[in-house]
Amino acid sequence: MIKKISHIGIAVKDLDAGIAFYEKLGLVLEAVEEVPSQKVKVAFFPCGDTRIELLAPTAEDSPIAKFIEKKGEGIQHIAFGVDDLPAELTTAEAKGIQLIDKEPRPGAHGADIAFLHPKSSGGVLIELCKEKH
Ligand code: ZN
Repeated sequence: MIKKISHIGIAVKDLDAGIAFYEKLGLVLEAVEEVPSQKVKVAFFPCGDTRIELLAPTAEDSPIAKFIEKKGEGIQHIAFGVDDLPAELTTAEAKGIQLIDKEPRPGAHGADIAFLHPKSSGGVLIELCKEKH
């Protein structure tokens, strides 16, 4: 069961510029972390019970680099927080939702994550996220 919006992922070319903007808005940077499996550097800003997650590519073949090339900077994914990620993936697949990740994989912030295919969701890249805490 989906509990909340865990975070909103926003693709940026320049992480420092992105951080500067959200700090101007008054959000407080929580952490910057590199996620080698996704070839991204991530900055988190808590915002109530959710977070803004800025994603900057660390390599040309990073999924975020490809996203920016195709669509430009902007909202890249929405992450829903779940309790039991493997069970959610099984349920989603049984309901005919196309998965990008059939198994959870490590995401930023110690979370386990998996993506659903935007072909199944009207063009929205949806992440299911089991937060560490
Ligand atoms: Zn995410």
